[in-house]
Amino acid sequence: MPKAKEPKCSYCGRDASQVEALVPSPDQKSYICTDCVNAIHDMIVSYHGEAASGKNKSAALKGKTLKEIPKPAAIKAFLDQYVIGQDEAKKYLSVAVYNHYKRLMQPDDDDVDIEKSNIILVGPTGTGKTLLAKTIARLLDVPFTIVDATVLTQAGYVGEDIESLLTRLLQAADYDVERAQRGIVFIDEIDKIARKGDNPSITRDVSGEGVQQGLLKLLEGSIVNVPPQGGRKHPEQRMIPVDTKNILFICGGAFDGIEQKVAHRLNTHVVGYSTDGKRRRIEAKDFMRYVAPQDLKSFGLIPEIIGRLPILTHLEPLDRDALRRVLTEPKNAITRQYEKLFAMDGIILKFDDDALDLIVDKAIEYKLGARGLRSIVESIMVDAMYELPSADVKEFTVTRDYAYQKIEAAHFEEATLE
Ligand code: ADP
Repeated sequence: MPKAKEPKCSYCGRDASQVEALVPSPDQKSYICTDCVNAIHDMIVSYHGEAASGKNKSAALKGKTLKEIPKPAAIKAFLDQYVIGQDEAKKYLSVAVYNHYKRLMQPDDDDVDIEKSNIILVGPTGTGKTLLAKTIARLLDVPFTIVDATVLTQAGYVGEDIESLLTRLLQAADYDVERAQRGIVFIDEIDKIARKGDNPSITRDVSGEGVQQGLLKLLEGSIVNVPPQGGRKHPEQRMIPVDTKNILFICGGAFDGIEQKVAHRLNTHVVGYSTDGKRRRIEAKDFMRYVAPQDLKSFGLIPEIIGRLPILTHLEPLDRDALRRVLTEPKNAITRQYEKLFAMDGIILKFDDDALDLIVDKAIEYKLGARGLRSIVESIMVDAMYELPSADVKEFTVTRDYAYQKIEAAHFEEATLE
């Protein structure tokens, strides 16, 4: 008797030992494996996306003309509503985003090809890099995603992971490949994949450089095979080819200690003369204003990566005045969020000015910066949020004394800077 044929997937040819499961057809004559079912599902989703977008170059722009695209000044004005200060970074971002739109609209047959200008934002943590990127995303109708470069270093399979960075963008675009190819990716903590030290051969640093090399492929624009479900690695998985030519990459990093590189380059801290003819010392806090591509190189980014991030801008540390404004001014300022929470219980919440001053003082004292503002306000408000909804109260004012008492009880520690 001839041996029964071993069931195999009719699509990829693998047998039961190589796949999760084989699903038979109703007549039991053919099979399909679960991977191929998934791949076909992805294909259908992507087909629907393309059909909906009409495979049109300006699909992501929903047929807009340049006139309808917000001008850089309007983009900046929008950012101003959510992000305090950081004028220079806002200006650079606004122009870059506007040009991104222009590039998406350029006809295919044009001689002059507008190249994309990926951006790198350098600035201490908690100064608004991610906030800027997120706020830009609110404004745009292109898919947007934030990924953390540190994840790329930690994984063993570097190449795989880097490609899966685009998986997020595909997901943000509902697997509409055309739209994803015009999206924006924010890569946070890009400084964490810097090569440590000047010696590229130090073994523990190779991963950083390896990740940079992988990233380069994405930044410079190429067709990348993206695993639709993320970093799972198996050779038979169907990949979705994504062209990164028109994807705008915005990178952000704190680059701790880069001031020294800038200072070193500026040659022993002294440049230029002030109007009264005396030599002028650049204060440490101002070094960042002079940050240049070669400083990123000294920090450990490879020159090829730097070349692919032609727009370099910096964010200022937030001073007392800026922190105070962060508390109340942005559209979704922390105090406004609490006011809204209380309003939902019919309670009018107010903060005394000197209570707000105290919150800022404490954020500075504990070296918590803007990120700390929220945790300090939270510690002040938690008791009130617990008690007031069930009390008969129509109005509640946070006074300096009240705030002080709650902060003291919360035992904040001074943040240890890494
Ligand atoms: P990072 O620069 O490390 O990416 P984030 O953008 O994540 O910092 O900032 C952390 C939080 O601090 C934000 O969610 C926001 O509440 C606040 N914040 C920081 N910088 C600003 C700013 N310039 N304007 C308004 N809020 C800010």
